[in-house]
Amino acid sequence: MRPIIPDYLAEALGDVEPDDSGEPAAYIPELAAADPERLAAAFATVDGRVDGAGDVDVPFTIQSISKPFAYALALADRGFDPVLAKVGVEPSGEAFNEISLESGTGRPLNPMINAGAITVHSLVGAENSSSEDRVERVVHGLSAFAGRRLTVDTEVCASELKHAHRNLAIAHMLRSHDVLTEDARAVVDGYTLQCSVLVTTRDLAIMAATLANRGVNPLSGEQVVPEPVVRQVLSVMFSCGMYDAAGDWATQVGIPAKSGVAGGLIGALPGGIGIATFSPRLDRHGNSVRGVSLFERFSSDMGLHVMEVPSAGRAVVRSNHVAGSGPGALRVLELQGGIGFAGAERVVREVLETDPREARVAIDLTRVHAIDDVARRMVLEVTRRLTLDGHEVYLVDPETILPDPDPGDGGRVTVVRDVDAAMLPSA
Ligand code: GLN
Repeated sequence: MRPIIPDYLAEALGDVEPDDSGEPAAYIPELAAADPERLAAAFATVDGRVDGAGDVDVPFTIQSISKPFAYALALADRGFDPVLAKVGVEPSGEAFNEISLESGTGRPLNPMINAGAITVHSLVGAENSSSEDRVERVVHGLSAFAGRRLTVDTEVCASELKHAHRNLAIAHMLRSHDVLTEDARAVVDGYTLQCSVLVTTRDLAIMAATLANRGVNPLSGEQVVPEPVVRQVLSVMFSCGMYDAAGDWATQVGIPAKSGVAGGLIGALPGGIGIATFSPRLDRHGNSVRGVSLFERFSSDMGLHVMEVPSAGRAVVRSNHVAGSGPGALRVLELQGGIGFAGAERVVREVLETDPREARVAIDLTRVHAIDDVARRMVLEVTRRLTLDGHEVYLVDPETILPDPDPGDGGRVTVVRDVDAAMLPSA
């Protein structure tokens, strides 16, 4: 059989190809010279499979797509408090290169606009590290997200630096507020090098998949940054990643995302896939025109919007019956599926409504494939309260889906492999 996804991606590329609206970024001359017809899309799964179509192996500069990854590195290297003290997490509703800072504090509003990203660059690596060491840490860190050693396009970097007046103005303003505490030009040099790291669409899909995969690179298996950092980064991508188009994006596409002025665009679906597209013509927000169309299509074709309410799973309580009779009668609550808070609440209610008269109660987890932490604690609390009410409680758990079942204070539970093992011989 031919694989399905590359065919789907090729078809999607074919559909957006006729759209030649927008312009490549003109303020960086080297980018304006890019071939505007380049077009690519790739999906990377959290187990490391990459499917792509079009120019997936053509390198281009990462530009602002470096921002969420540099933010992740700064949070991992310095901790949350020092970074949050200098850069906020509020959407700005302004263009990416707006010269604006929070009134009063002088803090940039978020790490996705240039003011925030320039500050974040200064926070990567150890405190007091040299500019060179910091750039090395950034390139090394971005490479860990990509799963291969990335390099810098020095020509694009030089071309941008010749015209970096706006970023320099922002950096000087940050310096005047002591948000930056070192030479403004050196930080802009480093930030511009960071933006000039060369990636392919395939690399970007893997980098996005690393975020989707809780910070573990699906190719190398390396935990690049800790999980709480990933949650922070994805949240900020969701609210601020598309600048002044972030609200439209959140409602219409609904995938944490980040764009770059070279034409790249990434999206990370938590627990799902990393998506990347490449097409250099940009809209007035600085986002790739065809990239935005492709993401709109992917989201609607495949129901990828993260606010999509999941189809109601099967009822958590599969059956509630009595096995055996007389004094040996056993009340059996057979559960199924994956259990989170809502499912566990349903189990609690089932037990309350049943108010079992039987002395013996079994909670059967044989058909449960996952139980999250809050659900685990709630199920154990059910067993504890049943014990306190005078019941003998069994947990049928042949695959140890609920390890170390300690119900706590006054609770007692016996783990058995199947319901028969909980029956009295006479029942
Ligand atoms: N290097 C670019 C800049 O600072 C990145 C901007 C972007 O990709 N949106 O202007």
